[in-house]
Amino acid sequence: MSKKIKISGLEYEVIEQEYFKTPDDERNLWGYCDYEQQKIYIRSSLSTEKKKQVLIHELTHAIFHGAGYTEQDEDTVHRISLVMHQVIKENISTFNEMFSYD
Ligand SMILES: [Zn+2]
Repeated sequence: MSKKIKISGLEYEVIEQEYFKTPDDERNLWGYCDYEQQKIYIRSSLSTEKKKQVLIHELTHAIFHGAGYTEQDEDTVHRISLVMHQVIKENISTFNEMFSYD
């Protein structure tokens, strides 16, 4: 099943794959966000929990990109994504209640 996430008007496809091509051709990356192709790659051999962390990290890159940050500081992205992961994880039922439009 292909997963899609919309970020500032763009639809990113989330792809789980063991290896993926990055501009600097790093082989051991856990994840990668391709802004031009709107694809987020996540290494398929990671644990379920790690995949979630990596997804939030790559989403944070996409959010910064969507907000117009052309230069991104990896440490900032890392710190924000850790807190964001915790906020989503520990408040998912509140979000489901507050943002359900049925
Ligand atoms: Zn990163």
